[in-house]
Amino acid sequence: MTTFLARHADVLVTMDDHRREIRDGGLFIRDGFIEKVGQTAELPGIADEILDLSDHILLPGLINTHHHFYQTLTRAVPAAQNANLFNWLKTLYPIWGRMTPEDIRVSTQTALAELALSGCTAASDHLYIFPNGCRLDDEILAARETGVRIHASRGSMSLGESKGGLPPDYVVEDEKSILKDSQRLIESYHDPNPGAFTQIVLAPCSPFSVTPDLMRQSAALAREYGVHLHTHLAETQDEEAFCVEKFGHRPVAFMELLDWVGPDVWFAHSVYVSSQEIELYRQTGCGVAHCPTSNMRLASGIAPLVEMLTAGVKVGLGVDGSASNDGSHMLGEARQAMLLARLKAALGGASRSAENAPPILTARQALEIATRGSAAVLGRDDLGSLEPGKCADFFAVNLNQLDFAGALHDPVAALLFCAPVQANYTVVGGKFVVKDGQFVTLDIPRLVNQHNAASKRLLNP
Ligand SMILES: [Zn+2]
Repeated sequence: MTTFLARHADVLVTMDDHRREIRDGGLFIRDGFIEKVGQTAELPGIADEILDLSDHILLPGLINTHHHFYQTLTRAVPAAQNANLFNWLKTLYPIWGRMTPEDIRVSTQTALAELALSGCTAASDHLYIFPNGCRLDDEILAARETGVRIHASRGSMSLGESKGGLPPDYVVEDEKSILKDSQRLIESYHDPNPGAFTQIVLAPCSPFSVTPDLMRQSAALAREYGVHLHTHLAETQDEEAFCVEKFGHRPVAFMELLDWVGPDVWFAHSVYVSSQEIELYRQTGCGVAHCPTSNMRLASGIAPLVEMLTAGVKVGLGVDGSASNDGSHMLGEARQAMLLARLKAALGGASRSAENAPPILTARQALEIATRGSAAVLGRDDLGSLEPGKCADFFAVNLNQLDFAGALHDPVAALLFCAPVQANYTVVGGKFVVKDGQFVTLDIPRLVNQHNAASKRLLNP
Protein backbone atom coordinates (compact mmCIF):
# COMPACT_ATOMS: atom_id res chain seq x y z
CA MET A 1 0.00 0.00 0.00
CA THR A 2 1.33 3.41 -0.91
CA THR A 3 -0.14 6.75 0.03
CA PHE A 4 0.30 10.17 -1.58
CA LEU A 5 -0.74 13.53 -0.20
CA ALA A 6 -1.02 16.64 -2.38
CA ARG A 7 -1.80 19.65 -0.18
CA HIS A 8 -1.99 23.43 0.14
CA ALA A 9 -3.08 24.04 -3.47
CA ASP A 10 -4.23 27.68 -3.77
CA VAL A 11 -7.30 26.31 -5.45
CA LEU A 12 -8.34 22.74 -6.20
CA VAL A 13 -10.84 22.37 -9.04
CA THR A 14 -12.84 19.18 -8.37
CA MET A 15 -15.14 19.11 -11.44
CA ASP A 16 -17.45 17.06 -9.19
CA ASP A 17 -21.24 17.24 -9.57
CA HIS A 18 -21.28 20.51 -7.61
CA ARG A 19 -18.23 21.89 -9.46
CA ARG A 20 -16.61 22.66 -6.11
CA GLU A 21 -13.45 24.78 -6.12
CA ILE A 22 -11.61 24.37 -2.83
CA ARG A 23 -9.18 26.98 -1.43
CA ASP A 24 -6.10 25.53 0.30
CA GLY A 25 -7.19 22.21 -1.14
CA GLY A 26 -5.63 18.80 -1.39
CA LEU A 27 -6.01 15.11 -2.13
CA PHE A 28 -5.20 12.01 -0.14
CA ILE A 29 -4.43 9.06 -2.40
CA ARG A 30 -4.08 5.36 -1.68
CA ASP A 31 -2.77 2.88 -4.28
CA GLY A 32 -3.53 5.12 -7.23
CA PHE A 33 -7.08 6.08 -6.25
CA ILE A 34 -8.39 9.17 -4.46
CA GLU A 35 -9.50 8.48 -0.91
CA LYS A 36 -10.20 12.02 0.29
CA VAL A 37 -10.62 15.49 -1.27
CA GLY A 38 -10.92 18.65 0.76
CA GLN A 39 -9.19 21.50 2.53
CA THR A 40 -5.68 20.64 3.67
CA ALA A 41 -6.74 20.80 7.33
CA GLU A 42 -9.27 18.01 6.75
CA LEU A 43 -6.74 15.61 5.21
CA PRO A 44 -4.34 13.18 6.95
CA GLY A 45 -1.04 14.84 7.82
CA ILE A 46 1.29 12.04 6.74
CA ALA A 47 1.77 9.91 3.62
CA ASP A 48 4.54 8.01 1.83
CA GLU A 49 4.85 10.92 -0.60
CA ILE A 50 3.90 14.52 0.17
CA LEU A 51 3.63 17.23 -2.48
CA ASP A 52 3.27 20.83 -1.32
CA LEU A 53 1.28 22.82 -3.89
CA SER A 54 1.40 26.31 -2.35
CA ASP A 55 1.08 28.89 -5.19
CA HIS A 56 -0.34 26.18 -7.50
CA ILE A 57 -3.73 25.44 -9.00
CA LEU A 58 -4.67 21.74 -9.03
CA LEU A 59 -7.09 20.24 -11.57
CA PRO A 60 -8.29 16.83 -12.78
CA GLY A 61 -6.01 15.51 -15.52
CA LEU A 62 -7.05 16.60 -18.99
CA ILE A 63 -8.24 13.81 -21.30
CA ASN A 64 -7.54 13.85 -25.02
CA THR A 65 -10.21 12.10 -27.10
CA HIS A 66 -8.67 12.25 -30.58
CA HIS A 67 -5.10 12.12 -31.84
CA HIS A 68 -2.80 10.41 -34.34
CA PHE A 69 0.49 10.16 -32.45
CA TYR A 70 2.44 9.03 -35.52
CA GLN A 71 1.74 12.33 -37.24
CA THR A 72 4.18 14.12 -34.92
CA LEU A 73 6.73 12.83 -37.47
CA THR A 74 5.14 14.93 -40.23
CA ARG A 75 4.38 18.29 -38.67
CA ALA A 76 4.50 21.39 -40.85
CA VAL A 77 5.34 19.41 -44.02
CA PRO A 78 5.64 22.18 -46.66
CA ALA A 79 3.37 20.55 -49.28
CA ALA A 80 0.67 19.92 -46.66
CA GLN A 81 0.74 23.28 -44.95
CA ASN A 82 -1.97 24.96 -46.98
CA ALA A 83 -4.00 22.02 -48.28
CA ASN A 84 -7.58 21.04 -47.50
CA LEU A 85 -8.25 17.66 -45.86
CA PHE A 86 -8.35 15.47 -48.98
CA ASN A 87 -5.21 17.02 -50.55
CA TRP A 88 -3.45 17.07 -47.19
CA LEU A 89 -4.09 13.32 -46.89
CA LYS A 90 -2.96 12.60 -50.45
CA THR A 91 0.31 14.45 -49.78
CA LEU A 92 0.99 12.61 -46.53
CA TYR A 93 -0.13 9.01 -47.28
CA PRO A 94 3.10 8.13 -49.18
CA ILE A 95 5.29 9.56 -46.38
CA TRP A 96 3.37 7.64 -43.71
CA GLY A 97 3.67 4.54 -45.89
CA ARG A 98 7.42 4.52 -45.11
CA MET A 99 7.01 4.27 -41.32
CA THR A 100 8.55 1.45 -39.30
CA PRO A 101 7.65 0.00 -35.87
CA GLU A 102 10.46 2.07 -34.33
CA ASP A 103 8.86 5.24 -35.77
CA ILE A 104 5.58 4.32 -34.06
CA ARG A 105 7.42 3.94 -30.74
CA VAL A 106 9.28 7.24 -31.01
CA SER A 107 6.24 9.22 -32.15
CA THR A 108 3.96 7.73 -29.48
CA GLN A 109 6.37 8.75 -26.75
CA THR A 110 6.89 12.21 -28.24
CA ALA A 111 3.15 12.90 -28.40
CA LEU A 112 2.49 11.56 -24.91
CA ALA A 113 5.33 13.60 -23.41
CA GLU A 114 3.94 16.75 -25.02
CA LEU A 115 0.44 15.92 -23.81
CA ALA A 116 1.54 15.18 -20.24
CA LEU A 117 3.47 18.44 -20.09
CA SER A 118 0.23 20.24 -20.95
CA GLY A 119 -1.74 18.55 -18.14
CA CYS A 120 -3.00 15.47 -19.98
CA THR A 121 -3.23 12.18 -18.07
CA ALA A 122 -5.17 9.99 -20.54
CA ALA A 123 -5.28 10.02 -24.31
CA SER A 124 -7.07 8.23 -27.06
CA ASP A 125 -5.02 7.61 -30.17
CA HIS A 126 -6.21 6.60 -33.61
CA LEU A 127 -3.62 4.59 -35.56
CA TYR A 128 -4.99 3.49 -38.92
CA ILE A 129 -1.96 2.85 -41.12
CA PHE A 130 0.28 -0.19 -40.58
CA PRO A 131 3.09 -0.28 -43.15
CA ASN A 132 6.31 -2.31 -42.92
CA GLY A 133 5.23 -4.56 -40.06
CA CYS A 134 3.91 -1.75 -37.81
CA ARG A 135 1.36 -2.92 -35.24
CA LEU A 136 -0.80 -1.26 -32.63
CA ASP A 137 1.30 -3.21 -30.09
CA ASP A 138 4.23 -0.87 -30.91
CA GLU A 139 2.16 2.06 -29.68
CA ILE A 140 0.72 0.31 -26.62
CA LEU A 141 4.12 -0.86 -25.37
CA ALA A 142 5.70 2.55 -25.99
CA ALA A 143 2.85 4.27 -24.11
CA ARG A 144 3.32 1.99 -21.10
CA GLU A 145 6.84 3.37 -20.62
CA THR A 146 5.43 6.91 -20.30
CA GLY A 147 2.94 6.25 -17.49
CA VAL A 148 0.05 7.98 -19.33
CA ARG A 149 -3.22 6.08 -19.81
CA ILE A 150 -4.21 5.31 -23.40
CA HIS A 151 -7.23 4.20 -25.36
CA ALA A 152 -5.50 2.73 -28.39
CA SER A 153 -7.77 2.69 -31.41
CA ARG A 154 -7.22 -0.10 -33.92
CA GLY A 155 -7.83 2.02 -36.99
CA SER A 156 -8.08 0.64 -40.50
CA MET A 157 -8.31 1.52 -44.18
CA SER A 158 -9.62 -0.97 -46.71
CA LEU A 159 -11.00 1.15 -49.55
CA GLY A 160 -8.08 1.97 -51.84
CA GLU A 161 -8.03 4.29 -54.84
CA SER A 162 -8.80 1.48 -57.30
CA LYS A 163 -12.08 0.83 -55.48
CA GLY A 164 -13.12 4.48 -55.28
CA GLY A 165 -11.52 5.31 -51.91
CA LEU A 166 -9.08 8.12 -51.15
CA PRO A 167 -5.90 6.31 -49.94
CA PRO A 168 -3.48 4.66 -52.38
CA ASP A 169 -3.91 0.87 -52.61
CA TYR A 170 -0.52 0.12 -51.01
CA VAL A 171 -1.56 1.56 -47.61
CA VAL A 172 -4.87 -0.32 -47.28
CA GLU A 173 -5.34 -3.75 -45.64
CA ASP A 174 -7.68 -6.62 -46.42
CA GLU A 175 -10.73 -6.74 -44.21
CA LYS A 176 -10.30 -10.27 -42.89
CA SER A 177 -6.89 -9.47 -41.40
CA ILE A 178 -8.18 -6.17 -39.96
CA LEU A 179 -10.92 -7.98 -38.05
CA LYS A 180 -8.62 -10.80 -36.96
CA ASP A 181 -6.03 -8.33 -35.66
CA SER A 182 -8.74 -6.28 -33.91
CA GLN A 183 -9.88 -9.38 -32.03
CA ARG A 184 -6.29 -10.29 -31.11
CA LEU A 185 -5.65 -6.80 -29.73
CA ILE A 186 -8.82 -6.76 -27.62
CA GLU A 187 -7.99 -10.17 -26.18
CA SER A 188 -4.36 -9.23 -25.51
CA TYR A 189 -4.62 -5.71 -24.14
CA HIS A 190 -8.13 -4.43 -23.32
CA ASP A 191 -8.61 -3.81 -19.61
CA PRO A 192 -12.26 -3.06 -18.72
CA ASN A 193 -11.57 -2.48 -15.00
CA PRO A 194 -11.50 0.83 -13.08
CA GLY A 195 -8.02 2.32 -13.19
CA ALA A 196 -7.24 0.72 -16.57
CA PHE A 197 -4.09 2.02 -18.26
CA THR A 198 -4.88 0.43 -21.63
CA GLN A 199 -8.17 0.09 -23.44
CA ILE A 200 -8.72 -0.95 -27.04
CA VAL A 201 -11.11 0.82 -29.42
CA LEU A 202 -12.14 -0.28 -32.93
CA ALA A 203 -11.85 2.58 -35.37
CA PRO A 204 -12.21 2.19 -39.15
CA CYS A 205 -10.73 5.47 -40.38
CA SER A 206 -13.54 7.31 -42.17
CA PRO A 207 -16.42 6.78 -44.62
CA PHE A 208 -14.05 7.53 -47.52
CA SER A 209 -11.38 4.94 -46.66
CA VAL A 210 -13.26 1.81 -45.57
CA THR A 211 -16.22 -0.19 -46.91
CA PRO A 212 -19.68 -0.22 -45.31
CA ASP A 213 -19.20 -3.92 -44.66
CA LEU A 214 -16.07 -3.34 -42.55
CA MET A 215 -17.90 -0.67 -40.54
CA ARG A 216 -20.73 -3.12 -39.79
CA GLN A 217 -18.44 -6.00 -38.91
CA SER A 218 -16.25 -3.80 -36.69
CA ALA A 219 -19.37 -2.67 -34.79
CA ALA A 220 -20.49 -6.26 -34.28
CA LEU A 221 -17.04 -7.29 -33.02
CA ALA A 222 -16.74 -4.28 -30.68
CA ARG A 223 -20.13 -5.06 -29.14
CA GLU A 224 -19.29 -8.69 -28.69
CA TYR A 225 -16.35 -7.61 -26.49
CA GLY A 226 -17.81 -4.40 -24.99
CA VAL A 227 -15.20 -2.06 -26.46
CA HIS A 228 -15.86 1.40 -27.90
CA LEU A 229 -16.12 2.46 -31.55
CA HIS A 230 -14.58 5.58 -33.02
CA THR A 231 -14.22 7.22 -36.43
CA HIS A 232 -13.92 10.57 -38.20
CA LEU A 233 -17.31 11.97 -39.12
CA ALA A 234 -18.84 15.07 -40.69
CA GLU A 235 -15.44 16.77 -40.75
CA THR A 236 -15.66 18.57 -44.10
CA GLN A 237 -18.09 19.49 -46.85
CA ASP A 238 -16.07 17.27 -49.23
CA GLU A 239 -16.80 14.28 -47.00
CA GLU A 240 -20.49 15.12 -46.92
CA ALA A 241 -20.57 15.34 -50.74
CA PHE A 242 -18.66 12.02 -50.97
CA CYS A 243 -21.19 10.23 -48.71
CA VAL A 244 -24.23 11.67 -50.46
CA GLU A 245 -22.86 10.77 -53.88
CA LYS A 246 -21.45 7.33 -53.06
CA PHE A 247 -23.85 6.05 -50.40
CA GLY A 248 -26.92 8.24 -50.92
CA HIS A 249 -26.85 9.50 -47.32
CA ARG A 250 -25.37 12.30 -45.28
CA PRO A 251 -22.59 11.03 -42.96
CA VAL A 252 -24.69 10.74 -39.77
CA ALA A 253 -27.59 8.95 -41.51
CA PHE A 254 -25.04 6.62 -43.08
CA MET A 255 -23.66 5.77 -39.62
CA GLU A 256 -27.16 5.06 -38.33
CA LEU A 257 -27.69 2.67 -41.21
CA LEU A 258 -24.46 0.83 -40.34
CA ASP A 259 -25.43 0.37 -36.68
CA TRP A 260 -22.79 2.93 -35.73
CA VAL A 261 -24.80 4.92 -33.20
CA GLY A 262 -25.00 4.37 -29.44
CA PRO A 263 -23.33 5.27 -26.14
CA ASP A 264 -20.31 3.18 -27.16
CA VAL A 265 -19.61 5.31 -30.26
CA TRP A 266 -17.80 8.63 -30.53
CA PHE A 267 -17.04 10.67 -33.61
CA ALA A 268 -14.13 13.01 -34.22
CA HIS A 269 -15.11 16.48 -35.48
CA SER A 270 -18.84 16.60 -36.28
CA VAL A 271 -18.45 20.01 -37.90
CA TYR A 272 -21.24 19.56 -40.45
CA VAL A 273 -24.14 18.28 -38.35
CA SER A 274 -27.70 19.61 -38.50
CA SER A 275 -29.91 20.14 -35.45
CA GLN A 276 -31.72 16.86 -36.26
CA GLU A 277 -28.39 15.05 -36.36
CA ILE A 278 -27.40 16.63 -33.03
CA GLU A 279 -30.71 15.37 -31.62
CA LEU A 280 -29.92 11.87 -32.90
CA TYR A 281 -26.54 12.03 -31.09
CA ARG A 282 -28.34 12.97 -27.88
CA GLN A 283 -31.01 10.30 -28.17
CA THR A 284 -28.57 7.52 -28.95
CA GLY A 285 -25.77 8.66 -26.62
CA CYS A 286 -23.11 9.15 -29.32
CA GLY A 287 -20.14 11.24 -28.18
CA VAL A 288 -18.09 13.85 -30.05
CA ALA A 289 -14.37 14.63 -29.98
CA HIS A 290 -14.23 18.36 -30.62
CA CYS A 291 -10.96 19.31 -32.36
CA PRO A 292 -11.00 23.11 -32.83
CA THR A 293 -7.38 23.66 -33.87
CA SER A 294 -7.45 20.97 -36.54
CA ASN A 295 -10.73 22.31 -37.91
CA MET A 296 -9.16 25.76 -38.23
CA ARG A 297 -5.79 24.48 -39.49
CA LEU A 298 -7.39 22.59 -42.38
CA ALA A 299 -10.01 25.31 -42.91
CA SER A 300 -12.66 22.62 -42.41
CA GLY A 301 -15.19 24.73 -40.53
CA ILE A 302 -16.53 25.47 -37.04
CA ALA A 303 -18.35 22.72 -35.16
CA PRO A 304 -21.62 23.69 -33.44
CA LEU A 305 -20.12 23.10 -29.99
CA VAL A 306 -22.51 25.16 -27.88
CA GLU A 307 -25.52 23.74 -29.74
CA MET A 308 -24.30 20.20 -29.02
CA LEU A 309 -23.71 20.99 -25.33
CA THR A 310 -27.08 22.71 -25.00
CA ALA A 311 -28.78 19.70 -26.57
CA GLY A 312 -27.11 17.43 -24.01
CA VAL A 313 -24.64 15.66 -26.31
CA LYS A 314 -21.49 14.22 -24.67
CA VAL A 315 -18.58 16.31 -25.96
CA GLY A 316 -14.89 15.80 -25.20
CA LEU A 317 -11.78 17.59 -26.44
CA GLY A 318 -9.18 16.35 -28.92
CA VAL A 319 -5.97 17.92 -30.17
CA ASP A 320 -6.15 15.77 -33.35
CA GLY A 321 -3.09 15.84 -35.57
CA SER A 322 -0.26 16.07 -35.09
CA ALA A 323 0.05 16.96 -38.76
CA SER A 324 -3.11 19.06 -38.57
CA ASN A 325 -2.57 21.02 -35.38
CA ASP A 326 0.61 20.69 -35.22
CA GLY A 327 0.97 20.46 -31.47
CA SER A 328 -0.42 18.42 -28.60
CA HIS A 329 -1.15 21.06 -25.97
CA MET A 330 -4.37 20.21 -24.16
CA LEU A 331 -4.67 23.47 -22.23
CA GLY A 332 -4.04 25.32 -25.48
CA GLU A 333 -6.74 23.24 -27.14
CA ALA A 334 -9.27 24.03 -24.40
CA ARG A 335 -8.47 27.69 -24.97
CA GLN A 336 -9.06 27.29 -28.70
CA ALA A 337 -12.43 25.63 -27.98
CA MET A 338 -13.46 28.61 -25.87
CA LEU A 339 -12.33 31.20 -28.41
CA LEU A 340 -13.70 29.43 -31.48
CA ALA A 341 -17.12 28.96 -29.87
CA ARG A 342 -17.19 32.72 -29.26
CA LEU A 343 -16.29 33.43 -32.87
CA LYS A 344 -19.10 31.12 -34.00
CA ALA A 345 -21.54 32.99 -31.76
CA ALA A 346 -20.50 36.24 -33.44
CA LEU A 347 -20.79 34.77 -36.94
CA GLY A 348 -24.34 33.71 -36.08
CA GLY A 349 -25.17 37.37 -36.49
CA ALA A 350 -26.97 37.98 -33.18
CA SER A 351 -25.82 41.08 -31.32
CA ARG A 352 -24.13 40.29 -28.00
CA SER A 353 -26.43 42.77 -26.31
CA ALA A 354 -29.60 41.24 -27.75
CA GLU A 355 -31.78 39.35 -25.30
CA ASN A 356 -31.72 36.24 -27.44
CA ALA A 357 -27.91 36.35 -27.94
CA PRO A 358 -26.61 32.77 -27.99
CA PRO A 359 -24.70 31.71 -24.85
CA ILE A 360 -20.92 31.84 -25.17
CA LEU A 361 -18.54 29.23 -23.87
CA THR A 362 -16.90 30.09 -20.53
CA ALA A 363 -13.38 29.08 -19.43
CA ARG A 364 -14.87 26.70 -16.87
CA GLN A 365 -17.07 25.06 -19.49
CA ALA A 366 -14.05 24.56 -21.75
CA LEU A 367 -12.16 22.90 -18.87
CA GLU A 368 -15.21 20.77 -18.16
CA ILE A 369 -15.24 19.50 -21.75
CA ALA A 370 -11.55 18.57 -21.44
CA THR A 371 -12.10 16.63 -18.17
CA ARG A 372 -15.62 15.36 -17.36
CA GLY A 373 -16.77 15.63 -20.97
CA SER A 374 -13.85 13.64 -22.36
CA ALA A 375 -14.17 10.97 -19.65
CA ALA A 376 -17.85 10.49 -20.54
CA VAL A 377 -17.02 10.24 -24.24
CA LEU A 378 -14.45 7.51 -23.58
CA GLY A 379 -16.84 5.70 -21.23
CA ARG A 380 -14.60 6.18 -18.17
CA ASP A 381 -16.56 6.85 -14.99
CA ASP A 382 -13.31 6.47 -13.01
CA LEU A 383 -11.76 9.57 -14.64
CA GLY A 384 -12.64 13.22 -15.26
CA SER A 385 -13.07 14.64 -11.75
CA LEU A 386 -11.33 14.68 -8.37
CA GLU A 387 -13.59 12.72 -6.03
CA PRO A 388 -13.17 9.81 -3.63
CA GLY A 389 -12.99 6.53 -5.55
CA LYS A 390 -11.73 8.07 -8.80
CA CYS A 391 -8.29 7.60 -10.28
CA ALA A 392 -5.61 9.87 -8.83
CA ASP A 393 -5.01 11.68 -12.14
CA PHE A 394 -4.32 15.39 -11.81
CA PHE A 395 -2.04 18.23 -12.83
CA ALA A 396 -0.85 21.37 -11.11
CA VAL A 397 0.36 24.68 -12.47
CA ASN A 398 2.42 27.30 -10.64
CA LEU A 399 0.42 30.53 -10.57
CA ASN A 400 3.36 32.62 -9.50
CA GLN A 401 4.74 33.22 -13.00
CA LEU A 402 4.87 35.93 -15.63
CA ASP A 403 2.03 34.50 -17.73
CA PHE A 404 -0.50 34.92 -14.91
CA ALA A 405 0.66 38.27 -13.52
CA GLY A 406 -2.44 40.39 -12.97
CA ALA A 407 -4.90 37.49 -13.33
CA LEU A 408 -4.82 35.89 -9.89
CA HIS A 409 -8.29 37.13 -8.87
CA ASP A 410 -9.57 34.11 -10.86
CA PRO A 411 -6.83 31.51 -11.36
CA VAL A 412 -9.25 28.98 -12.91
CA ALA A 413 -10.24 31.33 -15.73
CA ALA A 414 -6.64 32.60 -15.99
CA LEU A 415 -5.54 29.12 -17.10
CA LEU A 416 -7.48 29.61 -20.35
CA PHE A 417 -7.66 33.37 -20.80
CA CYS A 418 -3.88 33.78 -20.42
CA ALA A 419 -1.42 32.13 -22.83
CA PRO A 420 -1.20 28.33 -22.41
CA VAL A 421 1.59 27.23 -20.04
CA GLN A 422 3.08 23.87 -19.15
CA ALA A 423 2.20 21.77 -16.13
CA ASN A 424 4.61 21.77 -13.21
CA TYR A 425 3.27 18.44 -12.00
CA THR A 426 1.29 15.76 -13.79
CA VAL A 427 0.34 12.69 -11.79
CA VAL A 428 -1.32 9.56 -13.21
CA GLY A 429 -2.64 6.88 -10.86
CA GLY A 430 -0.74 8.49 -7.99
CA LYS A 431 2.61 8.45 -9.85
CA PHE A 432 4.56 11.40 -11.21
CA VAL A 433 4.81 11.69 -14.97
CA VAL A 434 5.85 15.35 -14.81
CA LYS A 435 7.69 16.65 -11.76
CA ASP A 436 9.11 20.15 -11.28
CA GLY A 437 8.20 20.87 -14.90
CA GLN A 438 10.19 17.91 -16.27
CA PHE A 439 8.88 14.75 -17.90
CA VAL A 440 10.27 12.08 -15.58
CA THR A 441 9.67 8.72 -17.24
CA LEU A 442 11.80 9.26 -20.39
CA ASP A 443 14.95 11.07 -21.51
CA ILE A 444 13.40 13.88 -23.57
CA PRO A 445 16.52 15.28 -25.34
CA ARG A 446 17.35 11.75 -26.54
CA LEU A 447 13.76 11.24 -27.68
CA VAL A 448 13.75 14.51 -29.62
CA ASN A 449 16.97 13.48 -31.41
CA GLN A 450 15.52 10.11 -32.36
CA HIS A 451 12.27 11.74 -33.46
CA ASN A 452 13.98 14.31 -35.68
CA ALA A 453 16.16 11.62 -37.28
CA ALA A 454 13.08 9.51 -38.03
CA SER A 455 11.19 12.47 -39.46
CA LYS A 456 14.13 13.41 -41.69
CA ARG A 457 14.39 9.85 -43.01
CA LEU A 458 10.65 9.71 -43.80
CA LEU A 459 10.66 12.98 -45.70
CA ASN A 460 13.92 12.33 -47.58
CA PRO A 461 13.87 8.66 -48.62
ZN1 LIG B 1 -8.13 12.74 -36.91
